[in-house]
Amino acid sequence: MHKLLDVLSSALCEEKCRACNKEICVDVRDSLLTFRAKTRDPTTLCGDCFQKMEQESALTRIVNVADLAPLLVASRIPYEGPLKKILYHLKYDDDRLVVDDLSIFLAQALDRLSKLVRIKNCVLVPVPLHWKRMLKRGFNQAELMANRVGQAYDLPVDTQILRRVRSTSTQHQLKKLERKVNVEGAFRAQPRTTDGKEIILVDDLLTSGATLASCASALLAEGALSVNAITLAYAISSAPCESDIA
Ligand SMILES: [Zn+2]
Repeated sequence: MHKLLDVLSSALCEEKCRACNKEICVDVRDSLLTFRAKTRDPTTLCGDCFQKMEQESALTRIVNVADLAPLLVASRIPYEGPLKKILYHLKYDDDRLVVDDLSIFLAQALDRLSKLVRIKNCVLVPVPLHWKRMLKRGFNQAELMANRVGQAYDLPVDTQILRRVRSTSTQHQLKKLERKVNVEGAFRAQPRTTDGKEIILVDDLLTSGATLASCASALLAEGALSVNAITLAYAISSAPCESDIA
């Protein structure tokens, strides 16, 4: 098997950076290996764009879930520049090759969260899409990334425990109050399977936190022990305020 990989790796694959369009050479062997959170090289981003994203400082925010509990959200990169372009390629061009690279940064958000809460017994729960959007897109980007991070951290991923029961508008384009109304009651947790679980929600983008709060509220109402969250990116409008702790 190693010999085969050596042969494959001798033919470098030509790719283009999804953020700046620069030609990059990708070692095929690297992309054939299992996802390893902090050690693999990016395959869809050039060194410059990767470094630019790598240097962004992480944000950790506390979102209050009504009167139930504070929800801690660790988020990695501002939603702008290279990240904005690469996320667009994933969601609207069906470019799933970018998932591994994006997962490197999501794993760093989990790393940040693990300094604040115990993650050992946690289960990762990707924020679900409504079935209509899932049918249109064909995949849930949060689920794809959660699978990679779960694999790297040896944490289970549960896609059954939470459902989006109502179709909602894209949060990013709404005003703060509209976001809250938009996702209120949009999620439902499975009774019984939620009991006593320590949950980490996974999503691609944090805006006001209303979506994550709505998910957490549904999960806590069905007996989840704790709910926290990680997101790959945060919208600039949700940049540091008084409740942010990093
Ligand atoms: Zn680039």
